[in-house]
Amino acid sequence: MELTVDEEHLGRSEALWRSSARQRELEAIELVRVQRMILVAPHPDDEVLGAAGLIQRALTDGIEIEVVAVTDGEGSHPASVASKHLDLANIRHWESRTALHRLGWDEPVITRLHLPDSGVTRHRKRLDESLSEIVRPGDLCVAPWRHDGHPDHDACGASARAVCREVGARMLGYLVWAWHWADPEGADIPWRHCRRLELERRASARKRWATEAFQSQTHPIGPDAADAAVLPAALMRRFWRSYEVYVDELTSA
Ligand SMILES: [Zn+2]
Repeated sequence: MELTVDEEHLGRSEALWRSSARQRELEAIELVRVQRMILVAPHPDDEVLGAAGLIQRALTDGIEIEVVAVTDGEGSHPASVASKHLDLANIRHWESRTALHRLGWDEPVITRLHLPDSGVTRHRKRLDESLSEIVRPGDLCVAPWRHDGHPDHDACGASARAVCREVGARMLGYLVWAWHWADPEGADIPWRHCRRLELERRASARKRWATEAFQSQTHPIGPDAADAAVLPAALMRRFWRSYEVYVDELTSA
C-alpha cells in the first residue's frame, strides 16, 4: 500500500471518524494488573500519538514503563537533512523526551535501537532479537498494529506480536496511519478485536500538549517544499480525540 500524506492527501476526515458507529460501540479496554509496559515506537512520536492515554494510565497505576525507540526517525525530511546538515535524529529524540515529560513522566526510560528509518523490514531479525531480550513473560507490550500501513510500523507490530507469543506477554496494537487510510465504517480495522480507552479531560489535554512537542513534524522545518510538515493539523486532530483504540493482537487472526 502506498501511503501519501501531504496537503492534498489528508485521508479520511476526522468528522467521518467522529461519527463512526464502529468506534462508538467498542467495548472498554480491560487493563489487568501488569508489572511492566513495553512501548514499541517505530519513530520518535508514535508512542505518544498512539498511546499517550495508556502511558498516563500506567504512570498513575505505578506500572514500570520502557519505551523502545526502534529508529531515530531521521528519514522524515531526507532532503533537508542532507542539505542543511540537520541532526534530526537528535532533535526528534528530545522532542519525544519532552512529550513524555508533559505526560507526567519525570525520567522517561528510552532504549534506542538506532535501526534505519524506513528500513525496519530489512532489519527484522535484529528487531526480533532485541525485543526478545527486552520483553519478559507477563509484560504488556504495546506496539503498532501490524497492518497500520507504514512499513516500519507493520514490521514493528509483526515483530512484537511474534515475540509476545513466544515469551508469553500480552500485546496491544495502537493505530497511527490506519486513521489516514482505513474506512471508518468498513472492515479494514478488525473492530471485533478493538477496545477503547477513554481519556478524561485532563489526560486528553495533556496528550494534546505532549503532541505539540513534535515541532519538527507538525511544522515546516524550513522554507522549501522538502521542509514541509509531515503531520499537518488535519492529521494531528486524529490524535486529539478523547479516547484511544487498541487492537488486542493476540486474539486477532
Ligand atoms: Zn511512525
